[in-house]
Amino acid sequence: MTVLVLSDIHANLEALDAVLAHAAGFDELWFLGDAVGYGPNPNECVERLMEHEPTVWLAGNHDWAALARLDASDFNRDAKRAAHWTRDGLSEHVRARLAEAEPMVALPDGGPTLVHGSPRHPIWEYILDASTAMDCFAYFDGPLCFFGHTHVPVMYEEGVDGTLRLTAELDEPKPLGSSRRLINPGSVGQPRDGDPRASYLLFDPAEGIVTYRRVGYDVAAVQEKILAAGLPASLAARLDYGW
Ligand code: ZN
Repeated sequence: MTVLVLSDIHANLEALDAVLAHAAGFDELWFLGDAVGYGPNPNECVERLMEHEPTVWLAGNHDWAALARLDASDFNRDAKRAAHWTRDGLSEHVRARLAEAEPMVALPDGGPTLVHGSPRHPIWEYILDASTAMDCFAYFDGPLCFFGHTHVPVMYEEGVDGTLRLTAELDEPKPLGSSRRLINPGSVGQPRDGDPRASYLLFDPAEGIVTYRRVGYDVAAVQEKILAAGLPASLAARLDYGW
């Protein structure tokens, strides 16, 4: 079985469709949150996800901001503007679907924990370094935790002498072995590791293997839509650089 693991789509339909086509043949979809926010197609992205019936569908901080479940005053100016624009434009059934999602789920029978931010603070905490990752290993059971929120594809392994940070090697099937890991598939719709291509992960639970993948998409088309919607120009510009 192959699981497609996605995070941080951020209303970028071109990126989402490119990933779904590139990953063709997956059996299950796990989504780690932030379907909306920043990008120009929040309703369309949620509808596209619904078509694929994700087994796991988590809420992210931008999803909750769009539902007014959390206060967007902690967001930077451009993110706040985008959150308000998104909130005003969500259709009722999309709002209802987003409202069903929780920010953290532990799969049964020792399966992975899935979370948007971190297992310690599921909505807000960013796992950006090995020391934060090391602390977070205490907050989930079982060997694996998939997380998103940072928009950076990365894997942390719990080592005897502290946590190792392993960067993601593209297209290399990586056996996970028996060590505990925190695994981030990167962001579909707004990568922040300097590579503008959409990022995603394939996971084979039976074999314990993950494969990081990237796929390019029509960035210019998304940028045009961002500007036409009156969203901040910086949100269009950053897609060029993957930052
Ligand atoms: Zn995000």
